[in-house]
Amino acid sequence: GTSRVLVGLVGSGIGPSLTPALHEREGDAQGMRYLYQRLDLDVLGLGAGDVGRVLDAARLAGFRGLNLTHPVKQTVLPHLDTLSPDAEALGAVNTIVLGPDGIAAGDNTDWSGFATSLRRGLPDAALGHVVVLGAGGAGAAVAHALVRLGAGRLTVVDADPSRAAALARAVPAASAVPASALAAALADADGLVHATPTGMAGHPGSPVPAELLDPRLWVADVVYRPLETELVRTARARGLRVLDGGGMAVFQAIDAFRLFTGVEPDADRMLGHFTEL
Ligand code: NAD
Repeated sequence: GTSRVLVGLVGSGIGPSLTPALHEREGDAQGMRYLYQRLDLDVLGLGAGDVGRVLDAARLAGFRGLNLTHPVKQTVLPHLDTLSPDAEALGAVNTIVLGPDGIAAGDNTDWSGFATSLRRGLPDAALGHVVVLGAGGAGAAVAHALVRLGAGRLTVVDADPSRAAALARAVPAASAVPASALAAALADADGLVHATPTGMAGHPGSPVPAELLDPRLWVADVVYRPLETELVRTARARGLRVLDGGGMAVFQAIDAFRLFTGVEPDADRMLGHFTEL
């Protein structure tokens, strides 16, 4: 008969997330009964430390899996039975598959989503030296993806030097430099990945002065609301090759759908849905 799939998203303030609609529309298109439930900690009156309770509840209720976002990608780690090597290397989980045996298997599709988006969107991008601006959760996923894609050298920049240093320690071939050294790092780089919140609706502006955007660089932004950030707009206008943050958002969902269902999602259809949402 028709397969039934119940999954959910755990995090704080997830009301506006497009991920539930992306998954459900693909489930519909695949002929599944696919329900993607928001488990918003703010709505439930819970905190990051309660993620183990939410996981137990999801297991009891027959959920096939969960996606996780801020602030539970790390606090969930002690509650998992197994971890994929990539999730272990990243120290963060955004996807849990709940097996029929009750086993909770942690994985991470943020890094793979970025990797696929970069390979598809900028297939010829040189990866000899890449600057990663922003060393939070997104920056860590991007750095891991770049290493897995064979990047030679990463330079990590963050307004908070301790965050840049921590990411550089965790990633092979990465070094941290102060924010004042961004210009020097870019002068010697093949490309730039932007992974701070700057450019989102609540954080307007660009974190990179326009004159540093040399046309020989490629630029990838992870911010996707809006898709056209000031950085993306300025870089395009100056003739750089540019990747917006939409691909990462969709491909993390594509990879999670495959893990939850064992069914191959239609990537082009999901990318099309995303542009309609
Ligand atoms: P975070 O808070 O974990 O990390 C952000 C980092 O940026 C912090 O270390 C902060 O010190 C640094 N920072 C902020 N402003 C800066 C500036 N002007 N210059 C240098 N460093 C600065 O946040 P996060 O979870 O990593 O998310 C960052 C952005 O990535 C958000 O906009 C989020 O929406 C986006 N994101 C997109 C996707 C996607 O699928 N496209 C996935 C995850 C996150």
